[in-house]
Amino acid sequence: MIRDFVEQLKKLGPSPLRHKEQEKGEDPPEEEASPQEEQKPPPTGIEIPKDSFVGRLVYSDFLWRCLGCYLCHTRCPTNAVNSEFMKPLRGLIPKDEADLYCAHGAVPLMIARMLTSPALKPNRMGWVPSDVKIAEKGEILYFVGCAPYYDAEFNDLPLGETQIAEATIRILNKLGIEPVVLPEERCCGHDLLWTGDYENFEKLAKMNVDMIKKAGATTVITTCPECYRTIKIDYAELFGDLDFEVIHLSEFLTKMLDEGKLQFTNTLNLKVTYHDPCRLGRHLGVYDPPRKLITSIPGVELVEMGRIRENSACCGVSSWLLCGEEAKKMQLDRLREAKNTGAAKLVTGCHKCRIHFICTQNEKVPEEFEDVKELEVVELTQLVAEALGIKLKPPTVS
Ligand code: SF4
Ligand code: SF4
Ligand code: SF4
Repeated sequence: MIRDFVEQLKKLGPSPLRHKEQEKGEDPPEEEASPQEEQKPPPTGIEIPKDSFVGRLVYSDFLWRCLGCYLCHTRCPTNAVNSEFMKPLRGLIPKDEADLYCAHGAVPLMIARMLTSPALKPNRMGWVPSDVKIAEKGEILYFVGCAPYYDAEFNDLPLGETQIAEATIRILNKLGIEPVVLPEERCCGHDLLWTGDYENFEKLAKMNVDMIKKAGATTVITTCPECYRTIKIDYAELFGDLDFEVIHLSEFLTKMLDEGKLQFTNTLNLKVTYHDPCRLGRHLGVYDPPRKLITSIPGVELVEMGRIRENSACCGVSSWLLCGEEAKKMQLDRLREAKNTGAAKLVTGCHKCRIHFICTQNEKVPEEFEDVKELEVVELTQLVAEALGIKLKPPTVS
């Protein structure tokens, strides 16, 4: 469907897209789109004049502002899924131009692209504490994602992203599970896919799926909603049946709770509110498991904000794109909404939302927002670990 849309655009007006083959007088190769090819990149060799109809679209902020948050999908009476069209359209411009729309000098995208090289052997295990139990092969695999990278990348913020990964392994160990952690795990490719870089996305996807299968995993647990969506929906679209189940940690732990295998030992005496990340909520419908976990912790009261579940507000940045005034306003509005509930902690099911919120709390904000800095923003895994009496090292700032 999305490929068709791009094809339609190509037919608009006096040929705004020019194939190199056409310039040479040759017909561009025609292809039948198979389900696997739906994820494939737009044809190569396309030049888009910036002053053409399509050029004005793909080179404007307009195209890059979409967060893929799916809020419009919940409102659209015809289920038009407009944000899905952004991916192939964004892929129509050269990568170096696309990088200009990415925050932090596009470093997050560059790291992901570097990881497509099989020759690159990342030190993925450097953060793993020596006293946790992990396995090389086994049925349950923990897909760590980029959290440990972000502690290095944002070392001026009090993030403690690695805590989330460490907490996950310690929680699983408490349940008697020694999860597989892949020593050469690659970025899931979410951010590359949403910036239209299908070619590199596919490379990462293939490497990860091969490694997961080789490890013998039948269940892949993620804490990051973006990894979750990417493996569960986008990898499956690319490769068909994956032969393994993908599950968010909140769903897995809720199952353990229901089976009586997970019991919270600490009483926290705390009021918290919960932010539904758009990838976990609107994309995958996971609204109840995080709430069930939170409300099962002794002494924890969940006070809801006005915008929750399918009406939740996005944190304002996706795929590290276009972080500016609008994103900051969205973050401050959300922090205000959370603060107004009277909660001491804002719990989110997404470590990236957490980074963006903490970033804004550490900036100069208008006076009327000063009090939102008092909120502690935590990822759900950190709260669960606290309720299980798991001690984690406080984040350091350098
Ligand atoms: S930002 Fe969200 S609501 Fe706006 S167009 Fe994109 S997906 Fe839709
Ligand atoms: S960081 Fe969280 S809220 Fe923001 S786009 Fe990603 S999942 Fe959605
Ligand atoms: S909110 Fe902060 S961490 Fe997030 S993209 Fe913007 S500047 Fe970067």
